[in-house]
Amino acid sequence: MSKKKMSLTTKILVALLLGSITGIIVFQLPDGVFKDTILINGVFQLVGQLFLRGIMMLVVPLVFISLANGAASMGDIKKLGRVGGKTVAFYLSTTAIAITIALCLGYFLKPGAGLNLEMVKAVKTTTAATKTPLVQTLYEMVPKNITLAMSDGNMLQIIIVAVLVGIGLSLLGKKGESLINLLENLNDLIMKLVDIVMNFAPIGVFGLIAKTFATVGYVAMIPLMKYILTIYLGLILVSILGYASLLKGFTGLSIKKFYKKFFPAMSVAFSTASSNATVPVNLDICEKKLGVSKGIAAFTIPLGATVNMNGTAIMQGVATFFVAQAYGIPVTLGMMATVVLTSTIASIGTAGVPGASIIMLSMVFQSVGLPLEGIGLIMGVDRLVDMGRTVVNITGDAICTVIIAKQEKELDVDVFNNMKDDEGGKVA
Ligand code: ASP
Repeated sequence: MSKKKMSLTTKILVALLLGSITGIIVFQLPDGVFKDTILINGVFQLVGQLFLRGIMMLVVPLVFISLANGAASMGDIKKLGRVGGKTVAFYLSTTAIAITIALCLGYFLKPGAGLNLEMVKAVKTTTAATKTPLVQTLYEMVPKNITLAMSDGNMLQIIIVAVLVGIGLSLLGKKGESLINLLENLNDLIMKLVDIVMNFAPIGVFGLIAKTFATVGYVAMIPLMKYILTIYLGLILVSILGYASLLKGFTGLSIKKFYKKFFPAMSVAFSTASSNATVPVNLDICEKKLGVSKGIAAFTIPLGATVNMNGTAIMQGVATFFVAQAYGIPVTLGMMATVVLTSTIASIGTAGVPGASIIMLSMVFQSVGLPLEGIGLIMGVDRLVDMGRTVVNITGDAICTVIIAKQEKELDVDVFNNMKDDEGGKVA
């Protein structure tokens, strides 16, 4: 009698397709109350924002509680330091490799050559970024005020506080036990809330995607097609070849299984274009479906949302060549090396929010003397690119998490390989 329930993954996939089609159809409708007020800023906005805010409200408590709990249960400060060092090294080197791949694509595919500047609807930009020195980014990781760090949702600062609390609790020994138990219970509660909110993901994803496509449309894409396609080619190369070989090489695990389980997180990243918003579902999947221990995932995932941006790096590399070619400026080897360095360093302090890389890009352009107005050329289609690069950003966080967990013997390979629960209609 029991009807086979559609899994959450399938529901989200259907929602993504329906949302894109609906958005494209709505884009064609004549402007007016029905299109703008009732659909785009009414229904789509309402369901999209309800979901987005539901998941965002869990980010800060989840990161703090699960990381403090994880650090306390790791109980070994040396191990924490080792995991931290390895993770940061992994994140920064993969980001640098991604930019290098993108620069090669930009060099060979020439996305900006012969661009008809008149056809591009340039957006006026005043994004002259104030460069934050690396030293400042580093010391500002320690907040002056814990509540401010939380209310600003400053991921790096929350990570520092949570790790300190975890270390403190484990040093307290017996006295800290009751608080650790409380954190454990709170962690279970927040994870439950993530599951509840994720049940609304199909409707939310539909609203977010429909609004994006109904607003951006595809007309703006046409003159920039080569730019967009070059970036997506880079993103696919990194996801299929890069991530697959990293996972296979370091752990011997199957990338196919990984992607099957990880899809809900990718769809949230695609529709929200925010690594931060994806932290709850990413953590949930890493722990419950990929078999990573809480101690590792709670540390590497939020850190990755801020520090690790491989998809963004692809965009930065391609955009550099695109703008240089559009303005007829030759790109030297020295400029390329500067781009790799500036982008990698800039990625450390950049938050995982929509459009964050535009600020990074202005720093990169300033460092190599490319015209900042060039950024205006790509702004009109940036959301379409942002969706794809955010998927690659957060996938890189999870890949690194699985690898580090395996090396630290904190990965349950049976959970990773078990595909049975994948059909249950739940995140985990
Ligand atoms: N939206 C991206 C993220 O959240 C950052 C960016 O590339 O703009 O990861």
